[in-house]
Amino acid sequence: MKYEPVIGLEIHVQLKTKTKMFCDSKNDPDEKHPNVNVCPICVGHPGTLPVANLEAIKKTILLGMALGCKIANHTFFERKNYFYPDLPKGYQITQYQAPLCSKGWLDIGNPLSHKASEGSKRICITRIHLEEDTGKLIHVSPSTGSGQSASLIDFNRAGIPLLELVTEPDLHSGEEVRKFGEELQLILRYLGISDADMQKGQMRVEVNMSLKEGLNQSKGLVGRTGSEPVLGTKVELKNINSFKFAAQAVDYEIQRQSALLSKNQRVVQETRGWDEAGQKTFSQRTKEEAQDYRYFPEPDLPQIETKDLDLEGIRAMLVELPSQRRDRFKRLYNLPEHDVEVLTVNKELGDYFEEVVSELKSWDKLSHLKKPPKEHEERLMKLSANYLITELVKLLYERGTGVEEMEHIRITPENFAEFIARIYHQEISSSGAQVLLKEMFETGEDPSAIIEKKDLAQVSDFSEIEIAAKEVISENPKPVEDYKKGKKESLQFLVGQVMKKTRGKANPQVAREVLEKELGA
Ligand SMILES: [Zn+2]
Repeated sequence: MKYEPVIGLEIHVQLKTKTKMFCDSKNDPDEKHPNVNVCPICVGHPGTLPVANLEAIKKTILLGMALGCKIANHTFFERKNYFYPDLPKGYQITQYQAPLCSKGWLDIGNPLSHKASEGSKRICITRIHLEEDTGKLIHVSPSTGSGQSASLIDFNRAGIPLLELVTEPDLHSGEEVRKFGEELQLILRYLGISDADMQKGQMRVEVNMSLKEGLNQSKGLVGRTGSEPVLGTKVELKNINSFKFAAQAVDYEIQRQSALLSKNQRVVQETRGWDEAGQKTFSQRTKEEAQDYRYFPEPDLPQIETKDLDLEGIRAMLVELPSQRRDRFKRLYNLPEHDVEVLTVNKELGDYFEEVVSELKSWDKLSHLKKPPKEHEERLMKLSANYLITELVKLLYERGTGVEEMEHIRITPENFAEFIARIYHQEISSSGAQVLLKEMFETGEDPSAIIEKKDLAQVSDFSEIEIAAKEVISENPKPVEDYKKGKKESLQFLVGQVMKKTRGKANPQVAREVLEKELGA
């Protein structure tokens, strides 16, 4: 490519707190009725006084700590003055000169590789600051409601604590944007800072991007002789409600802007949105003059000395982060990359897996070995991960709840461990296991009780299978003849007949061995 994309992100995140940023109105993003969670402070009545929400400040510092940021010793809020109908005060309380956190970083997996372990790339974080959200404008078209067009305002959102994170222009592709956004989203959820649901607007991404003349492998720098790269015009991508779409929008923009530049046409400085149906970006508004917001320190709020905020107490709230979990799961359980990723991205599923593993230690006494070999343990872990990731998740989706509902699952980790141990020790066939798991999922009953009730135990007993095999041999002279003449596939047919005769309960491996013995193979 002749041009190199230069991309920086501005990400807004609604914090999960009990109350709003500067008043005690409820912070409830799920409230369906408009203008319920409001008070004179958040709708900006004159003469009211804001009080900063300590929980929001601590959660912002917590994210800063997780991302290796420098935490400001001294900071304060400022007023950003502008008029908009969703901003009743005429200004937004934010942080401008002194953000709470600055100079951090987030490592993302190597975007050129599909394997997370193959190198990583560091994206630097410029700053993280705290501000308040605005109200929400709802535009009603004539076709809905009263037949007139109108703009309605819901102030439930006004004053919800909003964290803003700004990155350095360190990103270079749609894929990197997606990886950064998804990793940050995961960290926010692990730390309990936000649910970060983009569909609900709890996390919003703005992409700032431009193209500069890139390195050409054969000719060196193209089209210029100076030392500084020529930065192109900045285009902002906004109102995109998933990181997958953000990545598509970025890649589309790279193509669009490259095409313009190579035809010596100008890239217009503007804000663009993403048209999912048309798979293209579209102009939303062209940038006017840079606005002067006349920032000044908020006179109604005291300045913040972070040493008074029990920073060590906040640091103690740091939990294992997704990247740490990936490393630990790989090291401890030796699971394949894909399994580790599923158990990291779906935190509840990963937590459940670990509970199952610890229960397995007691269930696996079935193996009668004092100290089972490492390989044996690893096979049990792999089997557990397989059944969780494929079979259990399938059942959750069939019920229409998805992995988020893991916490309400009726199967206890102890029962799941017993289930795995029974499969491992071939006390139940793989088809029997499907039936068993579904029943456990629906009823929450013990596997042993269900095996008994549904007669699911697999027969590995030689003599019992021998009787069935003998009957099958006498009832099927033709396949037996074929097999003896060297047609090996006939054996599979005969194994099938034994399975049928035992109503699927015979261990197919044992059935095969018995047949081979009986047929003198
Ligand atoms: Zn309020």
